[in-house]
Amino acid sequence: MATIKPIEGRSVHQIQSGQVIVDICSVAKELVENSIDAGATSIEVRFKNHGLDAVEVQDNGAGIAPEDFETIALKHHTSKLSTYDDLSALRTFGFRGEALSSLCALSKFHVITARASDGPKGTRLDFDMSGKLKGTSVIAAKQGTTVVVESLFYNLPVRRKELEKTIKREYNKVLALLNAYACISAGVRFSVSNQMPKGKKSIAFSTNSNPNTKENIANVYGTKTLLALIPLDLKFEMDPSNRPRPTQSARNWSTREDPGSREVSIVGHISRPVVGEGRQTPDRQMFFVNSRPCALPQVAKAFNEVYKSYNITQSPFIFADIKLDTNAYDVNVSPDKRTILLHDQTTLLENLKEALAELFGSHDQSVPQAQL
Ligand code: ADP
Ligand code: MG
Repeated sequence: MATIKPIEGRSVHQIQSGQVIVDICSVAKELVENSIDAGATSIEVRFKNHGLDAVEVQDNGAGIAPEDFETIALKHHTSKLSTYDDLSALRTFGFRGEALSSLCALSKFHVITARASDGPKGTRLDFDMSGKLKGTSVIAAKQGTTVVVESLFYNLPVRRKELEKTIKREYNKVLALLNAYACISAGVRFSVSNQMPKGKKSIAFSTNSNPNTKENIANVYGTKTLLALIPLDLKFEMDPSNRPRPTQSARNWSTREDPGSREVSIVGHISRPVVGEGRQTPDRQMFFVNSRPCALPQVAKAFNEVYKSYNITQSPFIFADIKLDTNAYDVNVSPDKRTILLHDQTTLLENLKEALAELFGSHDQSVPQAQL
């Protein structure tokens, strides 16, 4: 008798959803990215009980058109990408149409949305677990979208228990992640708060609609932190003779006839390479690829190594945005899109270390920098 049989549809959806939404961090990240993609200039993230009871993200972006109400939470439905080829030129955070559908499967979920033309009225959208629109109702709302995620993992008891156990650590992690989104988003006002049951609401941090990342950093980390920073502006050309052999997942990009520009620049801010100006722990380090916050452990290691040769006892504050051709990396590596595959990482790291050593070497270490 055959032992292989297909998994029933609802279970498949739940398994896949559990890979996209793994914790409170992934909820906040997906919702904030959607708000930025919708052109919001104001984003409010509200945690209830550190996110255990609810995560709500309210924006003043474009809102959702009534024609899209039926499809926004269906799996692999997106307004941002239609073919695989679009992926290499991608400028939006989202592209897989998985976040909202996954949240329907793993939480008590609803959306309130209003467009500019809707006046003071908006629509509340409720969905079933598969992401199918269950009902709509008219509600007072300002332009923009509010997504409400309540009781994450209420239907997955093991995960829920784990989340309850680790929630304090998880909350600190999500704040660090939101710090990165707030700092990189020039022109966007961020406000992040937490409300404990029966307690009062406390603001975790906020930024004004600052025109640049420097002022965002001052809002989030304080002016004192900013004064210990120097501008990061490294530029180099990747050696074309050193092109990598395509890996399986990179093949689609590396074999293209037009390899794209080989110029790389790394811009941002870093602690002065002076003892006393760094930090005890490497906890304030943010990395971006073309303004997309991401985890880049090898790049972080290279930065820290070079810094240590000037200030062995401390770690730097780092805010580093790597600007490179969209053909030179792949975001579609992990379900949470935090992992980015840099196709020529070895060459990039060598160039980075050299350019950073030059910056630190040339820096007049006695002069305080980075005045607002
Ligand atoms: P993706 O971001 O990959 O498209 P999502 O599941 O995150 O997938 O979102 C599905 C769709 O819902 C988006 O493509 C977008 O059209 C719409 N949407 C989600 N959040 C918002 C928002 N805050 N404002 C406007 N539209 C939104
Ligand atoms: Mg999205």
